[in-house]
Formats: sequence, structure tokens, C-alpha cells
Amino acid sequence: MLRNYFYTGLLYFIKMLEFSDRGIYCPQADVYIDPWKPVGKAIITHAHSDHARPGSDVYLCQLHSTELLKQRLGFGIKVEGLEYGKHIQINGVDISLFPAGHIIGSAQVRLEYKGEIWVVSGDYKLTDDGISTPFEPVTCHHFITECTFGLPIYKFPDQQEVFDDMNRFWQDNACEGMNTVFIGYSLGKAQRIVQGLNAGIGPVFLHGAIANIHEALARQGFAFPGERVQGDTPKEQFYKAVIIAPTSALGSPWLKKFSPYRIGFCSGWMQLRGARRRRGVDRGFILSDHADWDQLNAAVKATGAQHIYATHGYQHVYAHWVREAYGLEGHEVQSFFQPVDSEDI
Ligand SMILES: [Zn+2]
Ligand SMILES: [Zn+2]
Repeated sequence: MLRNYFYTGLLYFIKMLEFSDRGIYCPQADVYIDPWKPVGKAIITHAHSDHARPGSDVYLCQLHSTELLKQRLGFGIKVEGLEYGKHIQINGVDISLFPAGHIIGSAQVRLEYKGEIWVVSGDYKLTDDGISTPFEPVTCHHFITECTFGLPIYKFPDQQEVFDDMNRFWQDNACEGMNTVFIGYSLGKAQRIVQGLNAGIGPVFLHGAIANIHEALARQGFAFPGERVQGDTPKEQFYKAVIIAPTSALGSPWLKKFSPYRIGFCSGWMQLRGARRRRGVDRGFILSDHADWDQLNAAVKATGAQHIYATHGYQHVYAHWVREAYGLEGHEVQSFFQPVDSEDI
């Protein structure tokens, strides 16, 4: 479900970037970053649906996002890919992309004009997932940061421990002759799941939405194991198997063919008490593609920025925190899309 928060109507008029009703706007270069509505020129931090929206005339993104963007926004879009660290100039504004470590092709956008530097983080994490290019801190004066998990309660466990737990869950289910369904976002999470699994336990199958993503990634040179579940795949093939599926599959008749099975849900939200039960799944695994509380703070400090703009999450809490804890100028910015459950379309 998309949870839409209408923009409050408040405009911050600032030197280089404005927060407009279409998203973050750079008037000097006449470009928007992750615009919510169609615009002329759009710079896209990554291909998740709350950041990459259809209908803009021209898109600029990191090189590895181009095929994903075409797949999601239409093969007819005009899209240009830029490598990390390469610079382009638009009307005197120097624009470059740096790794955000969130998913393949995810980028922080750095804009420099007359010596002033802004960085728009997009979504990010500091954990090296072994798939996306690891996060790189970028020195700036103004840092616009996401804060999906911007509360001190969010402290994510070591990812290898999580994968070990997931493999044990799969192994135990297989010993009982049951299949295992892992639920996770089709872009980002599914690739981490498939990479973290011990394929010696049994066969790995993919929901069509995930197989489609893997086809797009294959066109970018990224290969992932797993076989697409076809309508005519015989039920006997699903034995001691893992099936990876997006959240839309939960509660759907599509799952019936894998019976008997147990379901594990993989998300940072699984740290919340009661999240597993509310989802009606057997196990929750805390696996996130976002920064947890400590990572947010580390990232903010690493930029050296005096102005922090918190958006896309717990922006009120986080803007207040950076003011109180670090003496920085903390600003709260409403975003049209909140991150809750929004990245699975
Ligand atoms: Zn995202
Ligand atoms: Zn997001």
C-alpha cells in the first residue's frame, strides 16, 4: 500500500534546492530529484516505486539503474546512465552520483553551485550487502537524509546472523518435508535473500515479479540464481524448496501450490513487536536495506554538513535529534511518499 502524505504547502526558498509540491527542485539546473509528479528533467536516486515515478520527459540515474527504470517506467522512456563519481554540468551546476548502498544502482546525488554543496541521500544503508556498491560518505554543507528507521529502537542485527537463522529455518522446514516461502521486496531484498541462502538445502524458486527484476538486472550484467515459478511447474518440484515472493503474494491463492509450507518475512519492520503476527507469517527476519539509528547518525556526521534535512520517515524526531544531540541545523521535510511498505510495486 502506498501511504500518501500530501505536501504541507510550505516552501523553503533556499540557495540551491527547493522543496516543492513536485519534490526536490534545483531551479538553477531546472532538475527535480525523485519527483512525485511528471517533470521535464528528473534525477532518480534508485528504481523503487516511491522514488522513480512515470511521466517525466528525461531521466538521469546511475548506470546500473537504467534497465530497472525502463522495466518499471516503460521501455520508451528517455534515460541516461551516469557512473558513480562522474560529473556533469547543467547550467553551471555540477552534478554527480555517489553510492548509497541501498540497492543495485542506488545513488546519492551531489550538487555543487558556486562552492555550495548539497547531497540528496535517497535511501541508503551503511551495511555492505555484497550486491550494491557500498555507501560512500560525501562531504557537503547541506545533507538531505532519509530516516525510514529514524528512531533509537532500530538497531539491526549482523546480516550474516540473519542469513544463518534463515538457512536454519529452511533446513528445519525441509526436514519436516515442508517448503519455505520467504517474503521480501522484489527489488533489493529478494536479491539479498537469494544470495544469502545455502542452495545445498534444496531448490530455489522465484515469484514472477522477482524473476522479471532478475531479467532486468541480467541485462546490466548482474546474475542471480533461482528458477521462475511457471503456471505449469509441477507441484512435485516444490519439495524442500525455497520460494521467494513479494508481499503482494501474502494471502494469495498463488501460495497454495507450495503447500505444505512455512512463511518467513524479511524486513527491517520485523524488529517491531507484533509485526510478524500482524502479517500472519510464521517467522520474521530483520533484514533491512535502510540505515538503522546508529548508521543514520554515522552517515550524518560523516558528511560534515551543518544543515540536515530529514525526510521520508521519522523526520520530526530525527530533525529534532540532530539539533539537540549535535547542535546542527535540523530541518523537517515532508515527503509525498512515506517509506512504510511502499517499495514493493
Ligand atoms: Zn528504496
Ligand atoms: Zn524509499
